[in-house]
Order: sequence, then structure tokens, then C-alpha cells
Amino acid sequence: MDLTNVLLGCLAGLGAMTAAFWLALIIWTFRDMRARSRDIFAQILAALLVAVLFLPGWIIYWMLRPKETLAEAYERSLEEEALLQGIEEVLVCPGCGTRVQGEFVVCPTCHTKLKKPCQSCGRALNLRWGVCPYCGAPALGGMQLPAQSVQPALPAAETTLATPVLRRAQRGPVPDPEPPAESQADS
Ligand SMILES: [Zn+2]
Ligand SMILES: [Zn+2]
Repeated sequence: MDLTNVLLGCLAGLGAMTAAFWLALIIWTFRDMRARSRDIFAQILAALLVAVLFLPGWIIYWMLRPKETLAEAYERSLEEEALLQGIEEVLVCPGCGTRVQGEFVVCPTCHTKLKKPCQSCGRALNLRWGVCPYCGAPALGGMQLPAQSVQPALPAAETTLATPVLRRAQRGPVPDPEPPAESQADS
């Protein structure tokens, strides 16, 4: 008699423990799925899977659940966005490939002209801009730059610097019928 009582007690205890474990596993699965998916149907389905199949169901859930939580996915998207912005911000010299900053006027390594200063406000302008976006003053078009800014540079760059002013500055005493520019006063 005593033995069966003990046995029954043990069984009851074991059953209660198992039930508690089962319930905890369902709650854990529901919460875990809620952190990984906003879909309420998926959350209920995951909890139901564990409720019906218990441990095998939990193993199946473990195998099939989304890899990352919503917080992790959000964090990753932020990182990717930051990375993309970083790529956009990296500027390189077209002449030598050195990393340069946006305000650089000349490449410090190969002296390639990167920007032109605004005649009015002095800010660095893109070489292609025809007008200063900061003050509205018309910018010198193309590569028509003061002669002193034309350093040795690259052969490829020299072919593009085909304005009369620059040609005069490089070849020196070639007679030119055009009216004098400021470059003659410099040289
Ligand atoms: Zn360079
Ligand atoms: Zn300006």
C-alpha cells in the first residue's frame, strides 16, 4: 500500500513538473517568435506546434525559426545604411587614387586640381560647376583656371587643359593675337 502511494506521488510530481515545463516551453516559444516575427499568426502557430508536439515540436521550431530577431535585423539595416553613407563620403583623387577630403582644392600627393575656389566667397567648387551654389556668383567655366594653379600634373590632365590661357602659360613666348589675360602678368 505504502509503495503504491509513493509511486503515485512520484508520478504526480513528475506529471506536474512535466506540465510546468510544457507550459514554460510554450510561453518561451511564443515570446521567442514574437521577437522574431510581427506576424501574430506565426507566433500562435509556433506556440501551437510546441503545445501539440511538445519537445519534438520545440526542436522543429528551433530548426525553422527566423535566424535573427527583429532588433537584430533593425540593427543590421542601420549598419548597412551607415556603411553605404561611408562609401559615398569617401572621395578619391582621379589622378593617383589617394583619399581626399571634400574641401581639398588640390590633391596633396599628385597636385591634380580637384576643386576651384569661388571668385566671390572663396569656397571650394566642383570643377564642372558654372555657378557657385553658396553665394550665386558665376564660377569660371570648365578648366579655365589661373596659370599659377597649373602645376606639372598628369599628361592626361594637360590634354584637357586646352584653353588659350593655359597654352600660353606652358609654352611661354608664343605670340598670341588675343587680348592679354591675367596669366601674362603672372609669368
Ligand atoms: Zn592625386
Ligand atoms: Zn561663392
